[in-house]
Amino acid sequence: MNKECSIVKDLLALYSEDMVSDETAEFIEEHLENCEECSKEYKNIKSTRSFDFKKETAPLKDIKKKIVKKRIAAAVLSVFLALTILLTGYAVLSTREYFEYSDDLMTVNDRVKVVPFNSPDGKVVAGSYAIIQGNEINPNEDATGITLIVFNEKVTGCSYYFTYETETDTHSGTDGEWVCHVEAWTTLWDKLVNVVNEKLGRGNNAQFLEIKGHAIYSIYYSPNNGQDEVHIRGTNMYKGTALPRLALNYYIILAAGALIVAVILLVIFRKKEKIRKVMTYISLVPISYIISQLAVMGFNATTYSLMRDFKLILILSLFIFCVLVSVYRIIQVRKEIKEINKLN
Ligand SMILES: [Zn+2]
Repeated sequence: MNKECSIVKDLLALYSEDMVSDETAEFIEEHLENCEECSKEYKNIKSTRSFDFKKETAPLKDIKKKIVKKRIAAAVLSVFLALTILLTGYAVLSTREYFEYSDDLMTVNDRVKVVPFNSPDGKVVAGSYAIIQGNEINPNEDATGITLIVFNEKVTGCSYYFTYETETDTHSGTDGEWVCHVEAWTTLWDKLVNVVNEKLGRGNNAQFLEIKGHAIYSIYYSPNNGQDEVHIRGTNMYKGTALPRLALNYYIILAAGALIVAVILLVIFRKKEKIRKVMTYISLVPISYIISQLAVMGFNATTYSLMRDFKLILILSLFIFCVLVSVYRIIQVRKEIKEINKLN
């Protein structure tokens, strides 16, 4: 073996890893072209090197994959955490505060006909709608009549619903009548918007209700605070109180029950990893619902606006579920990375 061969052989290991200067690399390449022995040696080094390299990087690649998974879970977590905070804020700001009845709360225009107005979103600026009084309406043309209720400018939301009530304290067997229950509310958000509008010198849109549906009916105002409804129009035979809806109380009990079942199954199958994982995900569903309902309703699940509350709770549950799943994923991946590190 000549001197040059011996130098080249010493450098081959470094050369195979690209760790020599360009001049040295040039010198080695020139030599390899002309020397079979060194060339063989180089091929040998290269093949074992690449083999070792693969072997060494296998767990490294695994860890890289896990870190990517962790990052994705963290990104999902932050997105849904933001959505959860936003929606909780919206829920708080849009909680309905029902008005108690007062003389200036609303004006009732009985048996009117509303002439088309120009606002397409259903809101009219006070005074911009036109109504025709009952005596101008052809009774044949408009047998049911329309009642138009216009609220004062503090009201930002209103709705009505019908119930059929029969007279209970007088003679039995007579027909009852349709009772229209009217409710009016504002929200924290609407109050803030109104303050801003006032500062800017803008008028607030008056809310109004166009009531149609039944030939003869009485109108009552529901303050939705446990007090009796206030008689507005029609016969005054109905005496009632709008009752709050209790459904959310039952839903949260159902969720708690589901959670207990899931936890019991989790304990039973704690040694079977796959079932345990699935059960953990399943148990996050009732947990999400319970957190969501507490965020929207607090500890009072009794409500006068069930549909609004329930929709909010469902959407918020979905966001919270995504938050919890990504937290769980991050914890899992962290554990897995630790285990890989231990093995090496
Ligand atoms: Zn050589």
